Amino acid sequence: MWSNTSNQTCINSSIGINTTDNASNNIGLVVYFLMIVVAVLAYIAVTYYQKFKDLSLLYSTVLAKLAKPYKEEVLFNNDTLSKIVSYLPSNDLLSLALTCRRLGMREEGESSLHDEALFRQPPPLLEDCPICRLRIPTHYKGSKYQKCCGKKICSGCVYASFHDNQGNVVVDNPKCPFCRAPRPLDHVRVRRMKKRAEAGDTAAMLNLGAYHRHGVYGLAQDYTKALELYHRAAELGYARAYTNIGCAYGIGEGVEVDKKKSKYYYELAAMKGCTSARYNLGNIEKNAGNMDRALKHYLIAVRDGHDGSLKNIQQLYSDRHVPKDDYTIALRSYQEYLDEIKSDQRDKAAADREEYRYY
Ligand SMILES: [Zn+2]
Ligand SMILES: [Zn+2]
Repeated sequence: MWSNTSNQTCINSSIGINTTDNASNNIGLVVYFLMIVVAVLAYIAVTYYQKFKDLSLLYSTVLAKLAKPYKEEVLFNNDTLSKIVSYLPSNDLLSLALTCRRLGMREEGESSLHDEALFRQPPPLLEDCPICRLRIPTHYKGSKYQKCCGKKICSGCVYASFHDNQGNVVVDNPKCPFCRAPRPLDHVRVRRMKKRAEAGDTAAMLNLGAYHRHGVYGLAQDYTKALELYHRAAELGYARAYTNIGCAYGIGEGVEVDKKKSKYYYELAAMKGCTSARYNLGNIEKNAGNMDRALKHYLIAVRDGHDGSLKNIQQLYSDRHVPKDDYTIALRSYQEYLDEIKSDQRDKAAADREEYRYY
């Protein structure tokens, strides 16, 4: 018994010691965990404080300018600015650039902010196809807008909706591949587009604008009406509407020709991801002899699949305006884009009909 008791005591004692160890370990773990949490929180706080401090510095400098007459000073050649611009979204950079202009600050300050916003790679303009879930090609033949539901459907899915596997047409009057509404007659098409535009569908506003611009589907040609619709869509932030406004100013449709305004609207569109606007900007810079800036625009457009920009880079390379490295980068970017958008269904559609050639 004694021995058992002793053993029991011993075992109890041993358990007691283990319990204490476990408790210590647990406390240690909790303390360790708390230390990690505190470290993470401290890191976040310091980062945001730094960001806040940098921004405060710039804004206070800008505000100070309100009270002081303009004079030369090194404001935009310091590290603070480069830190600040890396935090800010393009829209904020632009408004800051405009503030600088209003305050009469050094021109290079304004342009450095402006360029920082302008030459950022924007997110792709188009969403994925709602049917096959693949990225919609940038090329205008790569998708079709459906007036019924307002969806953009990729060329492959449109083609597949009324062809069989052998490429035979199996439906005479195709329906919308997404909502199955029948294809509308011309007068219904315009009515439907108007309805969608009135409901705030920016793509419908642009399509309706194009109908007015070209005077089709029973509508009279009217550049002013087209431009009004583009402006309405632009106010809602639609990138392609800015491109069309830029175009109107470039060639004087519904307005006097104004190249400066044209470029301004192209820039707004390009920053929102419109590759056509980006390509136009590249051409403007190329024609002005600014090959470096032209190349920057073209490279951004190529990453989003703009083949015209790739061709222009190829030309710049042939004319020895850009080095081989940049041309190689452009080719690689375009291939990566193709790898993302290609599909058997889309290729089949493109092989069968030119109207579905999506790159
Ligand atoms: Zn699709
Ligand atoms: Zn539909």
